[in-house]
Amino acid sequence: MEEDTQHPGEPAAEHAVCTRCGVTAESGAPPPTWLCSVENGVRLYFCEGCARTHIRAIEGRLDSNWW
Ligand SMILES: [Zn+2]
Repeated sequence: MEEDTQHPGEPAAEHAVCTRCGVTAESGAPPPTWLCSVENGVRLYFCEGCARTHIRAIEGRLDSNWW
């Protein structure tokens, strides 16, 4: 019986999910085009589209609550 679960050696955690639109990174790890922001000690990921849309707010170091 073959189960399609995690591959051995691959960390189960850290499946990057866009904080804004909820899209999941296909490879699990966030692509280089994604943006990573740390707010209150929590690591947030933003996909390429969301990062572009909100780049100014991110660069302004505003919490996503302000968007
Ligand atoms: Zn997104």
